[in-house]
Amino acid sequence: MSKERLYLFDTTLRDGAQTNGVDFTLHDKLAIAAMLDELGIDYVEGGYPGANPIDTELFAEPPNLKAKFTAFGMTRRPGRSVSNDPGLKGLIDAKADAICFVAKSWDYHVRVALECTLEENLAAIRDSIRAAKAAGREVLLDCEHFFDGYKANPHYALACAQAAYAEGARWVVLCDTNGGTLPHEVEKIVAEVVKPVPGDHVGIHAHNDTEQAVANSLAAVRAGARQIQGTLNGLGERCGNANLISIIPTLKLKSEFAARFDIGVSEKQLASLTHVSRALDELLNRAPDRRAPYVGASAFATKAGIHASAILKEPATYEHVAPEAVGNRRHLLVSDQSGRSNVLFELDRIGIKVDKDDPRVAALLEEVKQREAVGYAYEAADASFELLARRMLGTVPDYFDVIQFDVNVEQRINAKGERVTVSMAVVKVRVDGKDLISAGEGNGPINALDVALRKDIGKYQSYIEGLELTDYRVRILNGGTEAVTRVLIESQDENGERWTTVGVSPNIIDASFQALMDSIVYKLVKSGAAA
Ligand SMILES: [Zn+2]
Repeated sequence: MSKERLYLFDTTLRDGAQTNGVDFTLHDKLAIAAMLDELGIDYVEGGYPGANPIDTELFAEPPNLKAKFTAFGMTRRPGRSVSNDPGLKGLIDAKADAICFVAKSWDYHVRVALECTLEENLAAIRDSIRAAKAAGREVLLDCEHFFDGYKANPHYALACAQAAYAEGARWVVLCDTNGGTLPHEVEKIVAEVVKPVPGDHVGIHAHNDTEQAVANSLAAVRAGARQIQGTLNGLGERCGNANLISIIPTLKLKSEFAARFDIGVSEKQLASLTHVSRALDELLNRAPDRRAPYVGASAFATKAGIHASAILKEPATYEHVAPEAVGNRRHLLVSDQSGRSNVLFELDRIGIKVDKDDPRVAALLEEVKQREAVGYAYEAADASFELLARRMLGTVPDYFDVIQFDVNVEQRINAKGERVTVSMAVVKVRVDGKDLISAGEGNGPINALDVALRKDIGKYQSYIEGLELTDYRVRILNGGTEAVTRVLIESQDENGERWTTVGVSPNIIDASFQALMDSIVYKLVKSGAAA
């Protein structure tokens, strides 16, 4: 039996940009659009050209995507003609494959907010769709407040949807704008809509105000809708939009949907989901939600003793899907009950062979526990864990020693009369009994230290030429009596391999230094550099 196609429409860059505290730059938007495209999303809504300079710039030179790059905006204003509405003209002129109009479909809002007749609103919908189609664009109509509108006046809400479909809109999208509709209501109402408007022209746009945006989206699909709108990690104003990061694996891995539908996301793309979710968090400088379904660090984490030993024998006993399917992995957390098997599992995963009764395993476990108690986070810093394990098992050579370093931050007025802050670092490294001194300059003290440290490590220099720091995150932890700083550094090498290292200290420079050192030593170990 051939499967039906379900379409995914991402609005991270438009509705997701309404999230409290989120402020995308043009560069962010381009990076996210590329990420969505690689994930296999069908439509990427870029923003609202004309509404702000970034979106206007984005649509003046749009990214080259396989996905349909979509511009968002309003239907023509009531009482104006299409040719006399600069907002609409800007939207139609935007370099987009598709245009998503938003229109009111709740009679109350038409009267109170638009202050026009119900018929004039329908005419605005028809005129705008006709104009966009004439310009060669694929057209979608977001019916704002559709579900509340349907409850108040089903006849008018349906008339808006039907007007759009009759005028040739590819999709009529039913929006739960206030996010208060419940799944059984969505299912019932969508089932009514797909009588006059075929389901393969109907989309759902759900907000998460009762934490059911994902459930509402799936309910709409059950009732016949064939496009789902959502955002990465459920970004969006108030409680967010439907989370595509949860919806995608459900559609791919749960038989009710997987047996009936195809989506544009392949199995291989699905396996990048955890990475995509975390890459977005990194871009926003947010800590990933550990408890996020499918992709969170805790989604496949097991702590208690009997669960941990059962899961090692037969993963399916405590996992609803295989973590690898979404690019996540099983975590066996270090704890009093299950520590030893968890550490053994980690050692096995990174390819370190050790006898399960080796006393060094217990010593490593104890060390990890003590370090995590003061702020280290080994789950987030695999490379530092691996180094710690290798050190305790005696397999990390002493490549070089940092004898001394000095970091200097100076603020002064330069020759042009501008106030500038300059950072300088000097590092003394001992390699094979020989001292090497390097200096580095940077836009900040950590950057200067990194530059100096990586400038000259003698015979090992060739191993780290391709090393690059790709992310630097700082968190202040309130552990015990004084605050300590945890630094996580993500590095990448010439082969595109990425790893994360951690440093903890009351002093941010010390914490950063530890993480930088771990990153360099990890690279040397990985490259098989000889001592
Ligand atoms: Zn919305």
